[in-house]
Amino acid sequence: RMPDIRGDVRLENITFGYELDRPALKGIDLDVKAGMSVALVGHTGSGKSTIINLLCRFYDTIEGRVMVDGIDVRDVTLESLRSQIGIVLQDTFIFSGTIRDNIRYGRPDATDAEVEAAARSVRAHDFIMHLPDGYDTEVQERGNALSVGQRQLISFARALLADPKILILDEATASIDTETELRIQEALGTLLEGRTSFIVAHRLSTIRNADRIIVLDHGVIVEEGNHEEL
Ligand code: ATP
Ligand code: MG
Repeated sequence: RMPDIRGDVRLENITFGYELDRPALKGIDLDVKAGMSVALVGHTGSGKSTIINLLCRFYDTIEGRVMVDGIDVRDVTLESLRSQIGIVLQDTFIFSGTIRDNIRYGRPDATDAEVEAAARSVRAHDFIMHLPDGYDTEVQERGNALSVGQRQLISFARALLADPKILILDEATASIDTETELRIQEALGTLLEGRTSFIVAHRLSTIRNADRIIVLDHGVIVEEGNHEEL
């Protein structure tokens, strides 16, 4: 098992390809201290999602090492690794059930008060209270009542409640209105506090707020720094 972690993450000279002789990442070195937020940017196919896949250890056939708190992730069980890593994907995963169950998905033991506190923290509480049955409103996997922005806020509440030390976020590309965008930015700030985070960033505001920006091109890091430096 992995003990509770601080959240230091190191990628050491990572080379990886989905197919032989076609590396998707080449010689990636990255040293991220606990609590830092890292924005991953670059053209389509540059390797952003691949970095995320390797952090979650979806593939073991890598050259180099992924280290969390100085421990090679291949030396711990997948279960314990993934209990420390929260993932919010682009196509926010909503399943059929109540809003409450959707929020406490990663923490089925969470009390109603905890669910509500998480929703309040990411500013989702108000829109939830406007749904026909509040937290008990049934939602469907596809389409229906929730907007893209609302789905995103639900997934933030879910991640906050699960409280992982390392958070991975593949930012939605869908266009949302300015007000929702602002609300999501605020919620994101709350969610990232005290966690190490890796965000595949599509919004300028997210990139600007990151502690570190990593620019990928054809599987290599071509630029690195904060918003002022780049
Ligand atoms: P996007 O902005 O489009 O999401 P990305 O930066 O996330 O792009 P990756 O998905 O990391 O890019 O892809 C990096 C390279 O690996 C690309 O050349 C891509 O074609 C290839 N690739 C990605 N996933 C697979 C896979 N499952 N099997 C084979 N090749 C893959
Ligand atoms: Mg991608």
